[in-house]
Amino acid sequence: MPRFRADRLATLYLFRPLGPVFGRVSPSVPILMYHSISMTDEPRCRPYFRTVTHPRVVRRHLEILARNGYRTATLATAGERLRNSSAAPEKLVVLTFDDGYADFCSEAFPLLSRYSCTASVFLPTSYIANQPRYFGDTACLTWSQVRELHRAGVEFGSHTMTHPQLAELPGAEVERELKASKAEIEDRIGAAVASFAYPFAFPGHRPGFRQTLNRQLSDAGYLAGVCTTVGIASSRSDPFFMERLPVNTLDDDALFEAKLAGAYDWLGQAQRLYKRCKRWRS
Ligand SMILES: [Zn+2]
Repeated sequence: MPRFRADRLATLYLFRPLGPVFGRVSPSVPILMYHSISMTDEPRCRPYFRTVTHPRVVRRHLEILARNGYRTATLATAGERLRNSSAAPEKLVVLTFDDGYADFCSEAFPLLSRYSCTASVFLPTSYIANQPRYFGDTACLTWSQVRELHRAGVEFGSHTMTHPQLAELPGAEVERELKASKAEIEDRIGAAVASFAYPFAFPGHRPGFRQTLNRQLSDAGYLAGVCTTVGIASSRSDPFFMERLPVNTLDDDALFEAKLAGAYDWLGQAQRLYKRCKRWRS
């Protein structure tokens, strides 16, 4: 039995039935947000905040995507489709993996290959070296693994150099985080880097910060980006801060399918409202 969680109940029994009422903006692309893929349990972490997905659950997700007629695309490709607002003749989905963990290579990639899927992996470049380094308790990819995966069709994007909360840094340092990480990945894989993933919770409710970062990303040469705002990305999304659907081990089939159908987007709206209220009161 899935454990009790309010977001699951509201999604499955309130917003999923209401889905046909609101409909979806077209074209739209669900972008899934994974982190570590392993059998590690996270008992002390509340369900919504867990970031580990069991390989068995990833396999179920890939089966569900195939059964529902989805084709995986890299973030660069999906971003281009949405920017040009071209009505996609096919259902696209993007699988993103943050933090550059080595278990992407050992656990996720074999499954992706089996289901003929591609993915976009976001590297905090200070943690990627010729020998494995650790981000928290988890080993990261090495540059030789990155090169090999890139040759196999995986997209690599920047997740900054040091994984800071960018909103706390002076402008010059933000620019360095954006530019140096991009340059290093490009140098290591010998190909252009187009995509960026914002580390930590995205302060999208701070319009000044958002606007400045948008310009800095554009100046650094990025074309597409994702953040932690919950929802399905569409042609109306900000191309540098596209919404994602967070997933983890606790995403059973019903919740996962509801998320793909847009029935989880309410959470993004609720979080936005909550942050605005907090700002007005402070
Ligand atoms: Zn991260």
